[in-house]
Amino acid sequence: MAGALDGQVAVVTGASRGIGRACALELARHGAQVVVNYVANADAAEETRDAIHELGGTVVLVKADVSDAEAASDLIETAVEELGKVDILVNNAGINRDRTLSRLSVEEWDEVIGTNLSGMFYCTRAAVPHMREANYGRIINISSVIGQMGNIGQANYGATKAGMIGFTKTAARELARNNITVNAVCPGFVSTEMVTALPENIQDNIKAQIPLGRFGEPEEIAAVVRFLCTEGSWFTGAQLSPNGGQYM
Ligand code: NAP
Repeated sequence: MAGALDGQVAVVTGASRGIGRACALELARHGAQVVVNYVANADAAEETRDAIHELGGTVVLVKADVSDAEAASDLIETAVEELGKVDILVNNAGINRDRTLSRLSVEEWDEVIGTNLSGMFYCTRAAVPHMREANYGRIINISSVIGQMGNIGQANYGATKAGMIGFTKTAARELARNNITVNAVCPGFVSTEMVTALPENIQDNIKAQIPLGRFGEPEEIAAVVRFLCTEGSWFTGAQLSPNGGQYM
């Protein structure tokens, strides 16, 4: 297997399922050695590992809750111990706890902030010293169209996804001198469990708001992530928005 990412090491958080899984496979397909992180679903993580093995790739599975600062740090240190470095960090792990503001609990707020926003910070702060040392890095934060446009019932989720964009812009400015780029990918609605769990009439209402008339596929997001790693060397602090035209 020869590819543009031969010799590089990628850590993808939340790579057992959905968009993270597709990113891990796409980066492996282009030659990267991949650390597949997950928090609970070992069966799904093992399935991702097997799929990467089938591509002839190298993969390390690491169970870690990214909302725990120490666990996030251990995840990155494990990557360095097992594979020698971290070139690419995809901060993808994310959850939603949708509730309108009048019903949103403090626990639901904290849980979503902890995983989506603090998790990104914890993994990034652990990875940056290694990237600085190598004078190279690609950090990709999986935000969302909801962070750009808002959505009823998603104040907690939208706050994290908008926060990820602000973090991306600041980190991009701070880390450019170290040849580390930091970008946000802001997908629209993508066919993963996060979306297919919604009632069918709600899915139909969402599709009606998408000019291209369908949800995205995880692979269509993974292609954008891979592009940032293989060819996107002059992008930093950017928002790339594969969303079927839902938000322009
Ligand atoms: P998904 O299918 O629900 O998968 C979520 C992944 O995150 C799983 O691998 C899960 O691991 C992992 N995870 C959850 N909490 C974690 C934690 N605390 N620590 C480590 N890993 C954790 O989600 P998805 O739809 O692929 O979404 C992936 C990312 O894209 C999220 O950040 C989401 O906000 C964003 N996004 C999704 C959409 C969409 O329409 N699907 C649109 C825009 C943005 P386990 O398998 O172990 O539970």
